[in-house]
Amino acid sequence: MARKVLVLADIRDNSFRNVSFEAIAAGKQVADGGEVAAVLVGENVSGLSSELFYYGADRVLTVENSSLKDYTPDAYSQALLQVIDEESPDAVIMGHTAIGKDLAPRIAMKKQAGLVSDVTALEVVGEEVVFTRPIYAGKAFEKKVVSDGIILATIRPNNITALDRDESLSGEVKTVSVDIKDLRTIIKDIVRKSSGGVDLSEAKVVVAGGRGVKSEEGFNKLYEFADIFGAAVGASRGACDAEYCDYSLQIGQTGKVVTPDLYFAFGISGAIQHVAGMSNSKCIVAVNKDPEATIFSIADYGIVGDLAEVLPLLLEEFKKE
Ligand code: FAD
Repeated sequence: MARKVLVLADIRDNSFRNVSFEAIAAGKQVADGGEVAAVLVGENVSGLSSELFYYGADRVLTVENSSLKDYTPDAYSQALLQVIDEESPDAVIMGHTAIGKDLAPRIAMKKQAGLVSDVTALEVVGEEVVFTRPIYAGKAFEKKVVSDGIILATIRPNNITALDRDESLSGEVKTVSVDIKDLRTIIKDIVRKSSGGVDLSEAKVVVAGGRGVKSEEGFNKLYEFADIFGAAVGASRGACDAEYCDYSLQIGQTGKVVTPDLYFAFGISGAIQHVAGMSNSKCIVAVNKDPEATIFSIADYGIVGDLAEVLPLLLEEFKKE
């Protein structure tokens, strides 16, 4: 059953987050032979359109307005709702990112649409789109369909493979003018914390530290290790609570969800709330001095040892490569 699908592109600092391209791939599946239109929202963003075609969008809808320079739920929901009213899509897909998590429920409520959030896989079965999503902190998966109206879904970064980039692809760019009014919140300034460059939720390699790292200086060693792999540094809540690092690094049920190809867990016990945020990593390497640590039950490779001894050895070896 061919569907018309809108995919919201996720832009940070004037460039796309990979999940935008993964969402287009998901959109193609949902469209089932129908059309995927990528929606580009922001201020002066139309120059980015071609990249969306390269990853498979059939059309690009640009929505530019000075109120859309930075994400606010108020302005973005007004803009997207007007695009939905103009385009009448069968489905709307976006990343399960800070923006998607905030925006999708608002759109679902306003359009009285069914929302499936944090999707890790999907398939078209007959007339239905069946979405798979984790539940109980990743202990089980459920399959869900939207039975009526617009299908709304957010997809978890790094789970659905983007289509191969093809620079020969192009298509129609349509400008959608929107009327943004009565904003109740306006961003005056954004003060950024430095995050070490690599975006944690999209990183291919994550180096995470726990309370076993013992100190802020210990975390500096993790940054040194991460640099070798071009990795992002993450942390358990134990490490954040102990003030070894900032809470923005927290991975888990109440932190970020990561799905890298390679996850290093240094001095992390493997509590269920932490595992909820990293158990879908493709390869997990754990270093812990306690042979009974729960993290070893989900690790592909484990080293039982004291970080004070193991980490310098790993640093020395990998720096040789
Ligand atoms: P610990 O459990 O203290 O483990 C430290 C580990 O380091 C131990 O296994 C120890 O053997 C090892 N170790 C110690 N010294 C060394 C050494 N020298 N060398 C090698 N290994 C060493 N936690 C999260 O991470 N993310 C969340 O999102 C999250 N959300 C939560 C939500 C709720 C509602 C609750 C109740 C809890 C949540 N937690 C979360 C907390 C979680 O339950 C754990 O307390 C936390 O994950 C423990 O962090 P940790 O593994 O670093 O510390």
